[in-house]
Amino acid sequence: MNPQAIKCHKCRHILFDDTCIQDSSLTCDPKKCESYDIKRFIYVSEDKVPAWIKEKIENEDWTKGKLHCQKCNNRIGSFDYISGRKCNCGSSVIPPIHLVTSQIDRPMQIQNIIR
Ligand SMILES: [Zn+2]
Ligand SMILES: [Zn+2]
Repeated sequence: MNPQAIKCHKCRHILFDDTCIQDSSLTCDPKKCESYDIKRFIYVSEDKVPAWIKEKIENEDWTKGKLHCQKCNNRIGSFDYISGRKCNCGSSVIPPIHLVTSQIDRPMQIQNIIR
């Protein structure tokens, strides 16, 4: 499968490709655990953080902040390296970088995996 572009919902600027997205199988079962709000958020895989997001996080000293589209400044998500929140069922830590599903355009493929 070829990587697919993830775009800003507002201006269609390509943000990164879907290889950065954390596989839903890495997290706990969304049916049993409500922490992963997979309809509202998608999570960026920690070992595949896109360069421009990494730069942003470094600028904030690995604390927390918001992520905006590089082009139109639309808020697309946020990151939080402070809380280290565990999910409801306690079996995993919520990934620090998440994107708001409604602010980005995802390829159909990913949507199909999720539901
Ligand atoms: Zn944009
Ligand atoms: Zn859980």
